[in-house]
Amino acid sequence: MSAKSLTVRSPASLKTIAQLSVADAAEVRAAVERGRRAQSAWSQTAMGDRASLFYRLRDLLLDEGDRLADILTAETGRPRAEVYGNELFYLCDAIGAWAKKGPGFIRTEKIRPHFPLLKAKKVISIYAPRGVIGIISPWNFPLTMTLGEALPALMAGNAVIIKPSELTPLSAIFGADIAAKAGFPKDLLQVVAGYGETGEALIDCADMIAFTGSVETGKRVMRRAAERLIPVSLELGGKDPMIVLKDADLDRAAGACVWGALMNSGQICTSIERVYVEAAVFQPFLDKVVARVKAVRQGASENEVDIGCMTSEEQLKTVATQVDQAVSRGARALTGGRRNPDLPGFYYEPTVLVDVDHSMSIMTEETFGPIIPIVKVGDAQEAMRLANDSRYGLSGSIFTRDAAMAQRLAEEMQSGSVCINDSLVPFIVTDAPMGGRKESGFGYRHGAEGIRKFCQQKTIVTDKFALKEEFPWYPASAKKANQARHLLNLLCHTGWGHKMRALKGLISG
Ligand code: NAD
Repeated sequence: MSAKSLTVRSPASLKTIAQLSVADAAEVRAAVERGRRAQSAWSQTAMGDRASLFYRLRDLLLDEGDRLADILTAETGRPRAEVYGNELFYLCDAIGAWAKKGPGFIRTEKIRPHFPLLKAKKVISIYAPRGVIGIISPWNFPLTMTLGEALPALMAGNAVIIKPSELTPLSAIFGADIAAKAGFPKDLLQVVAGYGETGEALIDCADMIAFTGSVETGKRVMRRAAERLIPVSLELGGKDPMIVLKDADLDRAAGACVWGALMNSGQICTSIERVYVEAAVFQPFLDKVVARVKAVRQGASENEVDIGCMTSEEQLKTVATQVDQAVSRGARALTGGRRNPDLPGFYYEPTVLVDVDHSMSIMTEETFGPIIPIVKVGDAQEAMRLANDSRYGLSGSIFTRDAAMAQRLAEEMQSGSVCINDSLVPFIVTDAPMGGRKESGFGYRHGAEGIRKFCQQKTIVTDKFALKEEFPWYPASAKKANQARHLLNLLCHTGWGHKMRALKGLISG
C-alpha cells in the first residue's frame, strides 16, 4: 500500500522535524493541470518582467537567509556555513546569471538556408517553452537541486512542479514559498512531496522531466518517460578521479583534495572519490592530506565545524560497507574508517585510505561519503588509464604545473567537465554547460544548453514572394524532371564541364 505521509527527521539529532502528506497520482495530476493554466499566461510575459521577479526572489532569499539556514541544516545535518557559502551563494549567482544571460540563450535565431533556391524563404527558429516541467531531485543540495534547477525552466516560460527527495523536502517548500512571496504567479512553481511513486506520477503527466539522482533511478525514470516519449535530462552519479603529477603544487593539491572530497561530507556528485598520485610525490602528498584531514572538525550544524553528518542513513551504510570491504581486502585507513562513536546522528569520520585498487567497490562504485582513497601510480599514462577505468564520467581534477600536459590530460579524461589545479568548481560556473558522460547521464545544466533543454525549438518558414506557382508543385512532367536534373548539376557538381552542360540544357529548355 502506498504511504500517505512522510516524516522528515534530522540526520544529526535523529529527531522528527516535520510530517508531510504524500501527494498521490491524482494530486500530482491536479498540480500539473494548475501549472498548465498558470504557464499559459506566464509564457506571454516579457523577459524583462521575468528577470525583475528573479531579482526580487534573490533579495527575499537573502533577507530570509537565516530561516533557510535553519531549515536546510535541520533536514541535512550540514554546517551552517555551507548554507551561506554554497547553497545560497550558488543560488544568488545563478538567479543573476539566468536573469541576465537566459534571454540571450533562447533568442529567436535567423537562419540563412544553404540551398540557393530557398533564399526565397525567410527562416527563423524560436525557443518555445515545453509547458510543465517536472523536476525530480536528490537530497544532497536540497535548494540548489530544486529551486536552482527550476530557474532556467521558469525563465524559458515554463511552469515547474518539483518532487524533492523524501529526505529533504522542506528546503524546496521554503523555496516555492519565497518565490510566491516574490510575486511569481500562483501555481507556476509547485512542490509535490512524496517518495518514488510521486515521482512516477509526475513522469506520467509532465511535459519533460529534469532528473537528478542515482544511476539506477535515472534508468527507471528514462524507461517510464519512454512510455510517453517525453524528453528527460539525467544528471546522475559520479566517481570523480583526481590526478596529481610529480611537478604539482602539493600544498594546493592537498587542500583542493581534502575540500573536494569532504565538502558536504563527500555527498556531492562531483566529489573527488579517488586520487592517483605519481610515485615521486606520493608520500609527501599523502602526509599533507592526512594532516589536513586530521584537522577537519566534524559535528552538529550549530557548532563551528567543517563537516556535518551524512543526510541519508542508507548512504551511511553504503559508505561503511565499501570501506569495510576495502579494509578486509588489504586497504589501510590512515584516518577514520568508522562511524563517529561520539555523535548520535549519521556521522562517518573523514577517512584516508591507502593500499586500494580497482578490485574494490570503494574504487569503482560511487561512495558519496567522506572517503579519500589514494593510489600510487608510475606516470601520467597509468593515472589516466585508471581514471578512465570507470562506468561513470562526471568530472575530475588534474594537478600539474605543465599547462600543455594538463590540457592534453583534460581532453583525454572521459568526463563531462574537468578542472585543472582545482576541485569542484565546474558546477558553480553557471555560464558553462555541465553534464555527464557514460553512466553519469546526459543533458546539461547551466550555459545555453541548460535553458534550451526546457524549450521546444521550432522552425518557422515564411514565403517571401507569394508566387502563384512553385517549381516542385504538381503537375509533374518529364520536362520538369529534366530541368531539375540540370539544376542539380549546375548547383552541386564540382566539375566545370558538368556545370556548363547543365546550364546549356537549362537554357535550351
Ligand atoms: P535517488 O536516485 O535515490 O533519488 C532521487 C529522486 O528520485 C528522489 O526524489 C526520489 O524520491 C526519486 N525517485 C525514486 N524512485 C523513483 C522512481 N521510480 N521514479 C521517479 N522518481 C523516483 O538519489 P538520491 O539518493 O536522492 O541522490 C543521490 C544521487 O544523486 C547520487 O548518485 C548523486 O551523485 C546524484 N546527484 C547527481 C548530480 C549531478 O549533477 N549529476 C547532482 C546531485 C546529486
